[in-house]
Amino acid sequence: MADALPKILIVGGGAAGLELATELGQKLGKAGKAQITLLDAASTHIWKPLLHEVASGTLAEAEEIEYLAQAHSNHFRFLFGRMEGLDRANKEIIVSAITNKKGEEIIPQRRFKYDTLVMAVGSVSNTFGIKGVDKYCRFIDTTKEAFRFQKQLVETYYIQSYANQSRQRDKPLSIVIIGAGATGVELSAELHEVTKLLATYGLEGSIDVNITIIEAATKLLPALPPRLSQATQEQLIKLGIQLKLGRKVTEVTETEVHTYDGEVFDADLKVWAAGIKAPDWMKDLDGLESNHINQLVVDQTLQTSDPDIFAIGDCAACEWVGHGGNVPPRAQSAHQMASTVAKTIINRLKGKPAAKFVYRDYGSLVSLGKFSTVGSLMGSLMGTVSVGGLIAYGVYLSLYKMHQVAIHGYFRTAMLTLSNLFRRSTHAKMKMH
Ligand SMILES: Cc1cc2nc3c(=O)[nH]c(=O)nc-3n(C[C@H](O)[C@H](O)[C@H](O)COP(=O)(O)OP(=O)(O)OC[C@H]3O[C@@H](n4cnc5c(N)ncnc54)[C@H](O)[C@@H]3O)c2cc1C
Repeated sequence: MADALPKILIVGGGAAGLELATELGQKLGKAGKAQITLLDAASTHIWKPLLHEVASGTLAEAEEIEYLAQAHSNHFRFLFGRMEGLDRANKEIIVSAITNKKGEEIIPQRRFKYDTLVMAVGSVSNTFGIKGVDKYCRFIDTTKEAFRFQKQLVETYYIQSYANQSRQRDKPLSIVIIGAGATGVELSAELHEVTKLLATYGLEGSIDVNITIIEAATKLLPALPPRLSQATQEQLIKLGIQLKLGRKVTEVTETEVHTYDGEVFDADLKVWAAGIKAPDWMKDLDGLESNHINQLVVDQTLQTSDPDIFAIGDCAACEWVGHGGNVPPRAQSAHQMASTVAKTIINRLKGKPAAKFVYRDYGSLVSLGKFSTVGSLMGSLMGTVSVGGLIAYGVYLSLYKMHQVAIHGYFRTAMLTLSNLFRRSTHAKMKMH
């Protein structure tokens, strides 16, 4: 019976895809009007803008969502697997074989049919082919990578603490973050907070940590107005974070980061957060048009060059009409694109035209841990308003709350927020394992 229903297949359950699957599950799946399927390469979801907190160990574990449970409660189907190709002639996606830790194939390559396909696979870091980056840098593109970084961080702290106690080392631990966009800036502040916490908790052999951000542009956070970029810069300097702006990284080795001007920075831990691209396998996806960073080119209805295939979130290149350039790869764009495509898919089943996507920029906010939040809010009547402190922090949190409401509804979001508050009052503020 389910085979006769229109098949809506969403690939990628991130900021965009999970909201879309949940909304369509509730509006179409529940009423038996369509079969909604979500495929993801991971089995759990954490909202990506929280990954710097996962990486530093300050995020509550409760923020992780099991896709299977979410699918069960919201009338869609979840498939675990990694898409690797597309067969448009047969309207099928191709999903890689799954292997176990020994490299043995446990599930063979599979194919899944669709009537409507939505690509929502997000983005990965763009290393621009710079020597040593892939080998020696950490990335925080996925939950798995963020957890891996957190484990290495804890291990490094213990090693450094022992080395300090036994006087085997007298130089500070150096963490170098390459890229001063929101990811790099937020991570630096979070790592600073963690270092302070360790001192508060009394980790033996006090750890001296140097955090440095290296950026090719001459200012931090190029997407924010200059005044806010300046305010962020002042905050970071106050925290003791070293800013090396206008430096282009040319090579990364096991222990150093080299720049174009010949400067060399010692680096025990290196994090790459300098620009994004859609995954390489999307470059030639069975003839769909893509751009220089592999994003699928979409029109104002978020349809690709194939009208049955949509792309949303970071993997979509959608012109930002009236502003020049494309809609920026942000959580708020992903959220808005998911809403538009949900409307279109519902309309299509009724024989109605596609909804038009109009991006509304509500501004950019950057969280500097518990120290501060800065950003700019945009309103069609107000123009751009610069905010900071508590107002900015409240608005920053509301972006995540909007995502939670989209996937849990208001009541569960309120309950989760409360339980998180209780948890924070009884648990350690950071994970040390
Ligand atoms: C540390 C950090 C901080 C950020 N802070 C902010 C912020 O403050 N504000 C803001 O607006 N934006 C922020 N961003 C950007 C924001 O997270 C992204 O723009 C947003 O998550 C994009 O949503 P998406 O759904 O396109 O992709 P994602 O949320 O990345 O989701 C992609 C999903 O696709 C899955 N996937 C990937 N490849 C495959 C495959 N081959 N097959 C199946 N599944 C696949 C992934 O597992 C993932 O679940 C931040 C990003 C990072 C990394």
